[in-house]
Amino acid sequence: MSYWRGIIHKYKEFLPVNEKTPIITLCEGNTPLVYAENLARAIGFKGGIFLKYEGLNPTGSFKDRGMTVAISKAVEAGKRAVICASTGNTSASAAAYAAKAGLRAFVLLPKGAVALGKLSQAVIYGAKVIAIQGNFDDALYIVRKIGELMPVEIVNSVNPYRIEGQKTGAFEICDALGKAPDYHFIPVGNAGNITAYWKGYKEYYQVGKIDNLPKMMGWQAEGSAPIVKGYPIKNPQTIATAIRIGNPYSWQPALQAVHESGGLIDAVSDDEILYAYKLTASTEGIFCEPASAASVAGLIKLTREGFFKGGETVVCTLTGNGLKDPDTAMRVCEEPITLPPDVDKVVGVISL
Ligand SMILES: *Cc1c(COP(=O)(O)O)cnc(C)c1O
Repeated sequence: MSYWRGIIHKYKEFLPVNEKTPIITLCEGNTPLVYAENLARAIGFKGGIFLKYEGLNPTGSFKDRGMTVAISKAVEAGKRAVICASTGNTSASAAAYAAKAGLRAFVLLPKGAVALGKLSQAVIYGAKVIAIQGNFDDALYIVRKIGELMPVEIVNSVNPYRIEGQKTGAFEICDALGKAPDYHFIPVGNAGNITAYWKGYKEYYQVGKIDNLPKMMGWQAEGSAPIVKGYPIKNPQTIATAIRIGNPYSWQPALQAVHESGGLIDAVSDDEILYAYKLTASTEGIFCEPASAASVAGLIKLTREGFFKGGETVVCTLTGNGLKDPDTAMRVCEEPITLPPDVDKVVGVISL
């Protein structure tokens, strides 16, 4: 069979699976790596920008790469139920893969801080959704306690199988480019994905599939930037809800990725994020969610500061699909015009 059967089939020699592992897949991965020459021109970047569009995974975010491995291993271990805390996308992904596997799913969400598209996914896939009157960090604390008390598998990125699956994003980029990029820009929330990408690049390097390594460039939102500030944030705030996390679980491995690779972790403001969000859509035809645009916002910021020499190859991970959060798009863009059904009136507003 030659059709795409998901990341475990494709990369099993790099993943913690064996012949007995039941592979639970929705055919995640194999996402587009889009050459973004219009964006490069618009921001004055004199090199190659590639956008890894993870919004085209089965539930609309990169979380599916980790979830296929985490759920497959949970089934292999005989687990009957999974649980997670989520800013939205982990719950959508956990609920979908649990449905496919016939497991029960319990998801804890910060009340009022999850985009409606993501909430609707968790609900329709049949998860039990529990809104916590607190933030993500509160929800994750409860999930980890319940994991100690009850026979339920935690599928947050505290689960190492999540990181294993997510590292395949780096493999796909190297397979497509024939090398690693010079720089990899990525949003940072709980910091699992930057950890996963770095692990993936290093493993490909170790087996000789690539002979260079990228500098890892992580981006937090200014109101939610514990790693940049150096201390946990009690009440993180940002429009980019998927990275609204005050005490990231993979804090240390993320710092290690940055230090080993010679990269950095910095912050961008919500205004910079929204600017990048709109520009990516209007120049490249790619609608990502606000958190995803933190990677592009970081690239714009460094380009403006004269950080690059020219000729570099840069990849930005666009972590999730903009359709999950249409409210933000409508809020930051021009209102549609309403007119009577009259040709002249419509002609009056069309300027060519
Ligand atoms: C989960 C998520 C992030 C943050 O990833 P971490 O691994 O938590 O750092 C960023 N963007 C989107 C869309 C996400 O779903």
